[in-house]
Amino acid sequence: MVGSAIVRRLLAGGASRLLLRTRAELDLRSQAEVERWFAEQQPQYVFLAAAKVGGIEANRSQPAQFLRDNLQIQTNVIDSAYRHGTRKLLFLGSSCIYPRLAPQPITEDSLLSGALEPTNEWYAIAKIAGLKMCQAYRREFGFDAISAMPTNLYGPGDNFSLEQSHVLPALIRKCHEARLQRSAAVEVWGSGTPRREFLHVDDLADACIFLMRHYSDAAPLNVGWGEDLSIAELARMVAATVGFEGELRFDPSKPDGTPRKLLDTSRLTQLGWRPSITLEAGLASTYDWFRSHQQSLRQ
Ligand code: GDP
Repeated sequence: MVGSAIVRRLLAGGASRLLLRTRAELDLRSQAEVERWFAEQQPQYVFLAAAKVGGIEANRSQPAQFLRDNLQIQTNVIDSAYRHGTRKLLFLGSSCIYPRLAPQPITEDSLLSGALEPTNEWYAIAKIAGLKMCQAYRREFGFDAISAMPTNLYGPGDNFSLEQSHVLPALIRKCHEARLQRSAAVEVWGSGTPRREFLHVDDLADACIFLMRHYSDAAPLNVGWGEDLSIAELARMVAATVGFEGELRFDPSKPDGTPRKLLDTSRLTQLGWRPSITLEAGLASTYDWFRSHQQSLRQ
């Protein structure tokens, strides 16, 4: 989802020498493959968007894969990029690197100031290691590696599977199917009270290119929308977008995760970047995308 959005944005800006590989062509978990690819291609600028990602249930049930795959991908790519002369690398982390009970909105200074949210600590530990690796390579080798920490993302190319996905695509799919099947209710996991912030992936892509052009520092930067809403409010918005008029039934046996995750984005704002896609507009266009790509959805 993120890689495709960055490519769309680069192409729209006139970029012509993009080096792209699918997962089938280049397994970033393989050190030998990554090393060979960087030796041959020697990219000048690297956007490291690849990661094993998923929602609360995927994180809970596959801790080993979330830790291992992400450590492998980022270690291989950051090290090979440095050794083969990449001029600059952007590493993408996540807002879940911050402590579960960090003061809100969460500033970059909250990193490592408290215990992590247990439902995604494996993913978070890998992402913390990634941003620390960027800082270490900058300090020891002078490698221009920067890190951005996006809030919860959504948009075209998202994973709409019911077990693996994040909340927003899951609710789009559930409400869509419930409307078609004329079901009376849609199940929403947890209490509905946790609060989340959502950023459209095209806004993130724009921020990534802005940072590649204008930012060069060890400190990670938050990328977010600036406002959050409760899962219950999100569910009502999705239902309205999709046209599902039945009941939203909350299932408290499912985990809530962290109570609130709203990023403080003042550092990025001061640098001169702001997001532009409202949740209303982004939900509508993402639902259109979902309807027109039902045959080719990622699982
Ligand atoms: P998180 O931001 O890391 O907690 O990841 P998610 O996007 O998976 O979940 C966010 C919140 O939405 C949690 O409180 C979930 O329990 C809640 N939620 C409600 N319904 C769903 C659903 O159908 N799928 C997912 N993934 N989360 C849901």
